Amino acid sequence: MNIVIIGAGYGGLRAVEKLIKNKNIHITLIDSNPYHYMQTEAYGYIAGKYDICDITVDIKQWCIGFSKDIKFINEEAINIDPLQYEIETTNQTIKYDKLIIATGAKTNFPIFIDGLEENTYGVKVLDRAYELKTKFEHIIYKKVRHSGDKKFNVIIGGAGLSGVEIAAEMAYISKKFTKSSGIKYSNISIILIEAYDSILNGMDQYIINNTMKRLKSLGVDVMTKSFISSVQKDKVILQNNDEIEYDFMIFTGGIKADGLNDTFDVEKNKLNQFIVNKYLNINGYHDIYAIGDCAQIQDKNGNFLPPTSQIAEQCAQNVAKNIIATINGKKLEAYEGHIDGMFVALGGHYAVGNILNKFKVKGYLAYLLKKVITKMYHYGLILRLNNGYKLRK
Ligand SMILES: Cc1cc2nc3c(=O)[nH]c(=O)nc-3n(C[C@H](O)[C@H](O)[C@H](O)COP(=O)(O)OP(=O)(O)OC[C@H]3O[C@@H](n4cnc5c(N)ncnc54)[C@H](O)[C@@H]3O)c2cc1C
Repeated sequence: MNIVIIGAGYGGLRAVEKLIKNKNIHITLIDSNPYHYMQTEAYGYIAGKYDICDITVDIKQWCIGFSKDIKFINEEAINIDPLQYEIETTNQTIKYDKLIIATGAKTNFPIFIDGLEENTYGVKVLDRAYELKTKFEHIIYKKVRHSGDKKFNVIIGGAGLSGVEIAAEMAYISKKFTKSSGIKYSNISIILIEAYDSILNGMDQYIINNTMKRLKSLGVDVMTKSFISSVQKDKVILQNNDEIEYDFMIFTGGIKADGLNDTFDVEKNKLNQFIVNKYLNINGYHDIYAIGDCAQIQDKNGNFLPPTSQIAEQCAQNVAKNIIATINGKKLEAYEGHIDGMFVALGGHYAVGNILNKFKVKGYLAYLLKKVITKMYHYGLILRLNNGYKLRK
């Protein structure tokens, strides 16, 4: 059976790992990028805590690391023909028996906020994260190079998980410079702007309260109930007409699925995510699955699940299991998504989180737990990659 997976993100790679074990399956993995981008670690990369090798893994080499062949096609998928069971990429047409769409999502820049997309950066793609890293580093460099008192403002629009993590890490790094190199770093202001009346809207109150405390202790200026009405080249204008000048601005206010989702004419929600059934099939197409951020994922009670890597990976596992069940003539299992826990990295060796929504943790212990989870994920990929080098020799 030929399985094609579009997207080598968290969901796509997990699907490969699970499906490869079956000898009757041939896998083709398609991604427009040659690397897997660990978005969950982007906050540390932007603030200068991690290098690019800490957040990317070469997909081709990772595929070679399996003892069985996986065909990796480094091209963009641009169209799906569900009647012909074909995918068109920028360079070729590929046939499938079963298709898994795992193309993720992009930053959503609402069009009613004038100037937002033109003047700000998202972090969902590596290119933007790289530009942000360079900009932040440049501010630090200017502070080291010139001992002037110039004030710098970094604005982060959107206090969800990614916005909060980036704000905390940047504030932590500039605080660290203040300690080692003097007061001139203290006038780098990190301003976090949120339209809702709380940061981390919808998350557990323990996480919200402790995140708020930590942000305050790092000197982040948190502005809730503040709606951005427009963005100009060097300033943000709020709905109450307040203006805030900035040196650069990051926008993490939400996501939207686009690209392939635009070209495939099936039912979608307001964020352009595919609507899927309990087996994660796109409605009407039992050989096409959509997983992770590109789809609207619900738990067994119909509650929407947040777009996270853990949900993308869970979806991948469920789909792989069902594809193998189909081959073996076994019963299919509905996806019963659940959040196993959540950790928010809050600068330096500090995090806050919960495990199984029961055990609350904060501080260094939470940081260590988060670190173990992300390191295990990264090491798993690196081990496979190194195996690829050995197999090639
Ligand atoms: C700063 C930040 C912090 C985060 N922190 C956390 C966290 O702590 N915990 C957590 O669980 N989640 C976190 N998330 C969310 C998490 O990163 C996403 O939910 C996750 O990446 C979704 O996985 P995915 O497989 O659906 O898509 P992605 O990981 O986005 O992968 C999609 C892949 O598809 C490829 N692609 C897209 N379109 C095409 C096409 N047309 N043709 C070919 N290839 C294509 C892309 O190149 C990409 O490789 C964070 C996100 C950000 C930005």
